Amino acid sequence: MTFQSLGLIDPLLRTLDALGYKQPTPVQKQAIPAVLAGRDVMAAAQTGTGKTAGFALPILHRLTMEGATAPQCIRALVLVPTRELAEQVYESFRSYGSNLPLRSAVAYGGVAIEPQIATLRKGLDVLVATPGRLIDLHDQGVISFELLQTLVLDEADRMLDLGFERDLDILLEALPKQRQTLMFSATFSDEVRKLAKGMLKDPVSIQV
Ligand code: AMP
Repeated sequence: MTFQSLGLIDPLLRTLDALGYKQPTPVQKQAIPAVLAGRDVMAAAQTGTGKTAGFALPILHRLTMEGATAPQCIRALVLVPTRELAEQVYESFRSYGSNLPLRSAVAYGGVAIEPQIATLRKGLDVLVATPGRLIDLHDQGVISFELLQTLVLDEADRMLDLGFERDLDILLEALPKQRQTLMFSATFSDEVRKLAKGMLKDPVSIQV
């Protein structure tokens, strides 16, 4: 199986070629078609499996093919537990999207909020964020979820371990009910399953 046979658009295929990615990893083989088809996904995948490209590539594909953003709006949101992971996932989106006319940004706490507000004002295609800072931005009225089409919860187990459950509840209240949701977790405890049950609709299950 190749990235081409998964149906990804040419600019992404060119970027993958330049990065030296020869073929999709097992999680990518399963996740990419499911995400392209608009399905919800629940994936058990550790770091190192290529999970980031597993959601970033089909999200970038869909965002390029469908619609555009608007001031203050974001079209895809990736929630992560830590600023380190936020930077890493954001870098992946930048790298995979380098041939695409899309805007992405990253927002986490512990740094000045003003530059993040200025970036959000114009609207974004992809925002990678930690939950607390995202709630601050939403409370300040500088972000709209009106055009949100895809939500990713990355490292959901760590998100719960770090005590983000309440923040997630607050955010889920504010997000459109009609959306695609992708959940990635290294482990599946009862708590993670409960979170998945409340967030995902008829998900495709992926194990690697
Ligand atoms: P991740 O599991 O998302 O943290 O990715 C692990 C590493 O694998 C990253 O450095 C990616 O750049 C790399 N990677 C992801 N997918 C592929 C692929 N299909 N072929 C080669 N390397 C990849």
